[in-house]
Amino acid sequence: MKKRPSLYSYRLRELVDLFADWGEPKYRAQQVFAWLYKRRVSDYDEMTNLPQALRDRLRANTTLTSLREVTRQVSELDGTTKFLFALSDGATIETVIMPHDYGNSVCVSTQVGCKMGCKFCASTLGGLVRNLEAGEIVAQVIHCQRLLDQKGERVASVVLMGSGEPLDNYEAATALIDIVTAPDGLQIGQRHITLSTVGIVPAIYRLADERRGITLAVSLHAASDEVRSRLMPINKAYDMNGLLEACHYYYNQTGRRITFEYALIKDHNDQLDDARQLARLIAALPCHVNVIPVNYVPERGLKRTRNEQIQAFVRELLRLGVNATVRREMGGDISAACGQLRAEHAKG
Ligand code: SAH
Repeated sequence: MKKRPSLYSYRLRELVDLFADWGEPKYRAQQVFAWLYKRRVSDYDEMTNLPQALRDRLRANTTLTSLREVTRQVSELDGTTKFLFALSDGATIETVIMPHDYGNSVCVSTQVGCKMGCKFCASTLGGLVRNLEAGEIVAQVIHCQRLLDQKGERVASVVLMGSGEPLDNYEAATALIDIVTAPDGLQIGQRHITLSTVGIVPAIYRLADERRGITLAVSLHAASDEVRSRLMPINKAYDMNGLLEACHYYYNQTGRRITFEYALIKDHNDQLDDARQLARLIAALPCHVNVIPVNYVPERGLKRTRNEQIQAFVRELLRLGVNATVRREMGGDISAACGQLRAEHAKG
């Protein structure tokens, strides 16, 4: 039997097309979209203004993806909530809610595992298992929004920074963006979406040409090809020159400042010379550097830079006119580094 697609995978216009094929009027698609994203129902029978036959047809042809919570950890320090979810095939993924002053941010996974092989990352330890379907990414946001509904709060921003490489699952990642920003749905502003990538250059050009108003975050983590290729195998396919050109193009097409992520790893990329080289590389580009103390992943063995050195690194960037901040660590008391919860779970 063919697997039924998730109803959460459809953009409104795709739902309109599906309904047109079924001989249903456009307003029916709008009704369904509202049930999914305004009322956030969890069963077809709650869509009470649809004829029973249409509810049955939807049930026969789609699924209302729901995620089973395997574990839920809540940080006592800052309320960060981290979920390990099981999907219908038993695969597990992580999702995080981070409460900020400006609202709740949800960090979603886009793949089960990852094939990018970055040397500091836990998500890629077991390789790529499979891509998530768009609806499985949307369902992570819906699950969080339902929880927040109990407190009268909403998801204010979404970051594609969980496990997986969003640009290696391009269709699903961009469908997620279109669905959660839809005016008839959750209405999250494009400006409140951040997509983080290892730097798959052709996909950055494609994203730029599609001109969404989202923030592109690029995991740089080094100031030279030599160091970056050691930490991130993707750099052998797309080097820094080409990557930075693509970032310029993204800025020119969208007017959105680029965010660079730079995880400081003891004795690899954390010297003041690295800061100077970085400052030179990105001088001409409107951007912001997010300096991240690397999360220690035992299987990886890479150590984090001492706090004084982190501060010195950032001060050097600021001195050279680079807009840089240290990322505030959230959920320090729960295993918050991407992929760590899933990896622990897999060990049993
Ligand atoms: N594949 C995408 C998004 C997922 S990772 C990407 O690479 O950007 C989100 C961010 O966390 C990336 O910047 C990634 O490099 C970083 N990251 C991964 N493991 C980390 C670790 N152990 N410590 C700090 N940052 C890490």
